[in-house]
Amino acid sequence: MTARNLFLLPGDGIGPEAMDEVRKIIAYMNEAMNAGFVIGEGLVGGSAYDAHGAAISEDDMKKALAADAVLFGAVGGPKWDSVPYEVRPEAGLLRLRKDLELFANLRPAICYPALASASSLKPELVEGLDILIIRELTGGVYFGEPKEIIDLGNGQKRGIDTQVYDTYEIERIAGVAFEMARTRQNRVCSMEKRNVMKSGVLWNQVVTETHKAKYSDVQLEHMLADAGGMQLVRQPKQFDVIVTDNLFGDMLSDVAAMLTGSLGMLPSASLGAPDGKTGKRKALYEPVHGSAPDIAGKGIANPIAMIASFAMCLRYSFNLVKEADNLEKAIANVLDKGIRTADIMAEGAKKVGTVEMGQAILAEFKTLSA
Ligand code: NAD
Repeated sequence: MTARNLFLLPGDGIGPEAMDEVRKIIAYMNEAMNAGFVIGEGLVGGSAYDAHGAAISEDDMKKALAADAVLFGAVGGPKWDSVPYEVRPEAGLLRLRKDLELFANLRPAICYPALASASSLKPELVEGLDILIIRELTGGVYFGEPKEIIDLGNGQKRGIDTQVYDTYEIERIAGVAFEMARTRQNRVCSMEKRNVMKSGVLWNQVVTETHKAKYSDVQLEHMLADAGGMQLVRQPKQFDVIVTDNLFGDMLSDVAAMLTGSLGMLPSASLGAPDGKTGKRKALYEPVHGSAPDIAGKGIANPIAMIASFAMCLRYSFNLVKEADNLEKAIANVLDKGIRTADIMAEGAKKVGTVEMGQAILAEFKTLSA
């Protein structure tokens, strides 16, 4: 079997603790399922700065570029608050996103039935919620030029950001959304503001044309982004895949995330274009949470976001759909049994640490895979 090359960048704070639990799942898959994962490991963030004086070394960047997928923990912490701006911990993540050309950010919002009561919405609105927000990550108003503050000379200044999208940027993100929808409920909702923005008019046209040309088997709906935000908190279960631009995606994915409860539960993936030769996309998988310096080293971090990020990696980088389903089911079953880390603790549940949570999920995964 061909090797599956994974590059691990555990990072700082709780990153390494959470990554250790994924490592155990990988070891089991290699041993019991002959999965063929070949693991490389490097440093990123503060730990890379301490070792190399950079947020990621050139050698580790090369390894990340050569891997089939990168698993990223978290970076940052008070220890590195005053390091120079160019080598601050986050610079490592930004460099990876840029060099791997990761233009599509996938943020699932899954509400495990056992945690429905932890949501700020009524349990019946979120129980069983499973939506995927696809945010364009490398274009739009965060990067468009001109981007400046100019002095108008009359005591006034003007702040300018430019929202700009070219056809190819919209085509490729729409393509990712339609492809992902085919692996789910086959429905895409595209969100923009075509009523007030020219980039929204073009977004709408290009998504419609891409759909017609290549993906007409997928159900497509368009929604204005403000209405979409409202629908997300009114009736979130109506959505399957949502595709939107960088700015709206930034906000809508955070709204969707909070429907599901804790930060310790949320995985994400960032994907690039398919390789011309192999057809494989560059990919980086990471939990949404940061390095949580307040609990680092205490053995109490929730490893679920990291493990669920690995489940996304199995699904999207290696097409191991059954294994990904089983791993996600294992997480749900463990929560059903009332096993909880401190951040998602509920009355009557059993409180466990990072390692016990990892062990419980692995044990369930083994049972489901048997
Ligand atoms: P954070 O996500 O690290 O923590 C926010 C709160 O949530 C903390 O109270 C933390 O204990 C809790 N929390 C987060 N993940 C948890 C988990 N898995 N289990 C249990 N509790 C969890 O955000 P922050 O405190 O704003 O930032 C801390 C550091 O992380 C900063 O240096 C920040 O720059 C960095 N950061 C990194 C990333 C990344 O690596 N992608 C993302 C966000 C923040």
